[in-house]
Parts: sequence; C-alpha cells; structure tokens
Amino acid sequence: MMDHLASTSDTPSPVSTPAQTETIVLVGLMGAGKTTIGRRVATRLDLPFVDADVEIERAAGCTISEIFTRHGEPAFRDGERRVIKRLLQGPPCVLATGGGAFMDTQTRILVRQHARSVWLRCALPVLARRLSGRQGRPLLAQGDHKTILAALQAVRHPIYAEADIIVDCGDDSVDTSARRVLEALEQHRHPVRVPVQLDTHRYDVTIGADLISRAGAFLAPVLPQKRAIVITDRNVAALHLPRLMTALAETGVEARDFVVPGGEESKSLAQYGALIDDIITAGIERRTTVIGLGGGVVGDLAGFVAATVLRGVPFVQIPTTLLAQVDSSVGGKTGINARSGKNLIGAFHQPLAVLADSSALATLSRRERVAGYAEIVKAGLIDGVELFAWCENHGAAVLSGDPAALAEAVRRACLFKAGVVQADEREQAAEGGRALLNLGHTFAHALEASFGYDGRLLHGEAVSIGLHLAVGLSVRLGFCDASVLLRLDSHLRTRAMPAGLDWFADALSAEELLNHMARDKKMRDGRLSFVLLRDIGDCFTTRDVPMEIVRDFLIREGCRS
Ligand code: NAD
Repeated sequence: MMDHLASTSDTPSPVSTPAQTETIVLVGLMGAGKTTIGRRVATRLDLPFVDADVEIERAAGCTISEIFTRHGEPAFRDGERRVIKRLLQGPPCVLATGGGAFMDTQTRILVRQHARSVWLRCALPVLARRLSGRQGRPLLAQGDHKTILAALQAVRHPIYAEADIIVDCGDDSVDTSARRVLEALEQHRHPVRVPVQLDTHRYDVTIGADLISRAGAFLAPVLPQKRAIVITDRNVAALHLPRLMTALAETGVEARDFVVPGGEESKSLAQYGALIDDIITAGIERRTTVIGLGGGVVGDLAGFVAATVLRGVPFVQIPTTLLAQVDSSVGGKTGINARSGKNLIGAFHQPLAVLADSSALATLSRRERVAGYAEIVKAGLIDGVELFAWCENHGAAVLSGDPAALAEAVRRACLFKAGVVQADEREQAAEGGRALLNLGHTFAHALEASFGYDGRLLHGEAVSIGLHLAVGLSVRLGFCDASVLLRLDSHLRTRAMPAGLDWFADALSAEELLNHMARDKKMRDGRLSFVLLRDIGDCFTTRDVPMEIVRDFLIREGCRS
C-alpha cells in the first residue's frame, strides 16, 4: 500500500546549528505534547520541526484513521517505519513520532543509530484530560479514553523507557517543558563528573543520561586492557546488559558476561565461590577489568571478586539502582555476607571509574527508589541543613522518578560521599570520618538480619527506619532536640517512607535485634557502636551507650521485650 512513502521527499529545509547536529526524536503517548513541545524545542535549536504523522498522511494521501480502517494497523506501522527511516537519514530535525512508532523494534534500532530519542513522559490524568473530546485518534475510538490510555501505558512505558533521555512534562507550560528537554539534551552531551581524589588513586563518578549505551567510549580510555568481565544479575541483564555489551564491542572491548540471581542472597560465600570459579575457568588475566552492572548487591559482589581474583584486578562500577548510584558504588567498600551477618567478609577496592546512568533508573520500582532515597536523607542528616533542605524540597520529585531530580540527587549525594571518602578512605579516623556514613546502620543491619535478607525488607527501607531510630536514640539520650526527630519523621512519613518499627505488621523482638547488633562488625571490645546526632549536620560516633538503654529504647519504640 504505502510503498511510495519512503521516497516522498518534502522534508523541510535543514537549518543546523553547530550545537545540535543530530536529529531529536520525540516519543511518548498521544497527548504528551510531542508536537507543541517539539515545535518550541526546534525553534530554540534552530532546526526544522517534522511531525511524522503529518508526513505519513501526506505521503498516503489520506488521514491516519483512514489508513487504519482501509489497511489495518500492521500496514500503517510498515509505512510509518519507512517514513521515519527516510526522515532519519535526512538532515537533522526535531521529529515528533506517533505514540506507537517507538514500539516497533526496527524503528527503535533506526532511531538509536541515527538520532537522540527523548521520551516525553506524562501522567495518565493529564493525558486523559488533554485528550477528552479529541477526534481522529483510531486507538482512542475503541472505548473509554482513560481505560485505553492506562492499557497503552502499561504496554508502552517499559519500551519508551529505552529512550536515551526521559523528560517529565505533565502540567508544565510548553516553555518549561521545552526548557527541560533542552537541559536534558545538554546534560546528555556533557555528563556531570564528580572526582574522587584519594591519596594514591583518582577516579571520576560520571553521571548522565544513557551512559550504558556509551560505556565503551567512556571506559576504553581507562581500561588497562581491552578485555572485561561483566557481572550482573538476572533482572538487570534482561533490561540493560545487551546495550552494555554492544557499547563495549563497539570500542573493541572483548567482554564476557556472568549473570547471578537477583537479590541479597547473591552476596553469599556460595555464590562468590561459584562465580570466581566460573570466571577463572573462562579465563581472566591480571589486567582484565571486572565490571559490576547492577544494584548494590552486584556492586559489592563484583567488587569483592575484583578485589580477590588473582589477588586483585581492575574494577568498574555501573550502578543501576538509586541506592547504588548515591552510595554503594562510590568509596571502594566491597563485600559479601557471612551466615551470621551482613558484609562481614570484604575488602576495600576502589574502582577505575563509576558510570551512573540516570536513564537506567527509569526501570526501577518506587519501592527501590524509596530504598535509595533513604541513603540521600542519611547524607543530608550527616552533611548539614543545605542537603537536608534540598531533600525536603525535592524528595517528592526524586521518589516519583523525575529524571532531572534523580540526576541532581545522585550528583549531590556523590559529592557528599566523595568528600567523606577522600578525608578517611579506610574508615580509620578516630573521630567522625567515614564511620559517620553508618548513621542508622547499626539498627538497619539488625533489622535486615532479623528478616533473613529474603526481600521482605530492603536494605534502604531498613536504613530509613534506622535513621528514625538513630535520631530517636539521640533524643532519648539527651544529645538532640526532639524537633529534629519531628522534622525527620515528618519528611519520611509524608513521603510514605518507613519511619519506625510500626512499619512492620508484628512487633519485633528487642532481644533478637540486640543479638544481631552484637554480631555487627562495628563491635569493638564488646561494645556496640552507634552514630548519633546532636543536630542536622552534627553527627558523632560513640561506644558509650549501654545495652540496657538500647533495649529499653527499642521496647518504647514498639519492640516486644
Ligand atoms: P539490589 O542490588 O539487590 O537491587 C535491588 C533490585 O533491583 C534487584 O532485584 C535488582 O535486580 C533490581 N535492579 C537493579 N537495577 C535495576 C534497574 N535499573 N531497573 C529495575 N530493577 C533493577 O539492591 P540495592 O538496594 O541496589 O543494594 C543493596 C546492597 O547494597 C546491600 O547489599 C547493601 O549492603 C549494599 N550497600 C553497599 C554499600 C557499600 O558502600 N559498598 C553501601 C550501601 C549499601
């Protein structure tokens, strides 16, 4: 039917600027603003704006509705793919695509090869409002708008998440949304770098959109040998591994992947043993780099493999959870769990580089974002009022998955952590130093241990509760004013985060938690170690809290005796 489409040539005349030499492809559901925002972006970049649907209608000589009715959706998609291919091979422009175009695998490959894709993400109520009463949308003509849009979102959002850049545009004005697209494009071109300068080693945490697809280019200059071992887990492998392997291959890095099951259980001696045997059998040399692609579990496990195999090989972190990007991938702590406690087996092993790809966070669940965000709140409590106030102002955006807020949160948290690690790389400072990063963690590790690391309680959820308990204990001991606890609790609770032992359906045993604390690696001379707080930005470590007081405090907080 639409064979002639590919050769139709009425692309607007090209006006390129030195800054933008690539076509920008806007994807997203109908009503997201691809045309209005696209026009504004095109004007700002001095590029032509092209609407793929208009091009298709022009080429077919009839409306999209008519193409659907006469020839059906498969024929429409076929023609759409050819039109988009022609446009992508032409001069740079801002190209708005129909809502289904990016769902086509071949179209996605073409877009990836020839352009930068931007997903304009928009919440369902906003879309439904905008589209109510609009005619001429074949997919909407089949029933209730909201139900159809919800079904489309469920299928399409996971695919749209493969776009290079994601911009939330909801109810913002066209100007604001266009500005956010331009900022995101700029950030994509120039990722942020946070340097970590240690006594004998320096590396960058690079933060930006779509870094995994460009990992070869970022890593090739720092790898001692063009060979790598990629360690990841099953969930991340399904979502992000192919892009990484392609990116490494593109720059001639020969890589093999090793996939472990997802979840804390993979930080076990058994998994570590099996993995290291597999890697040695497959062949690894002293200059081969181990790359950890995944959350904190993969980062800790891969880092410990890198620290120990052949007495240590180079290591790169590509963190894919918020928790891993804001905390675990920076600082060089690696390790696995022993039967009797978390992170009891480990090593310091600093990475050559950390690539924090903000686009990878698009596939995270809210629960995982909450877990990562708890570590940012922790950083705010330790660092001071400015970071904590930033959390109060932007926490909701971070938790809702706003890409700009997420990237900024990662930058701020990495800057904070880099500063702490630079000052006390191996946690040896007599006062304060790196040990302060354990704020809330004595409680958190005990909570995690009592749930057996089986996924019912995530590390970051335990940290969130641990922060409340650490500040609560500080108040109880008279170090800190109750208003600080109120401020923290109000921040956590208004964002539906875990903020106390009432998070659990059943009361936990104080005795059991104390037993887990007693096995924590921070015990010294038989005394528990706590990070306590005098005020936001004024934390300290202490070993002077008697067990009895902690037991009494836990019971007041809701534990059974
Ligand atoms: P995780 O690694 O288990 O990841 C959580 C889940 O998210 C897993 O199921 C994983 O498969 C999945 N996942 C990862 N990336 C994804 C993505 N982009 N999209 C969708 N799903 C994705 O857990 P975590 O919270 O990242 O890390 C927790 C671990 O980090 C704990 O073991 C903790 O001890 C450790 N940690 C280490 C340090 C350190 O300094 N080394 C600091 C803090 C925490």
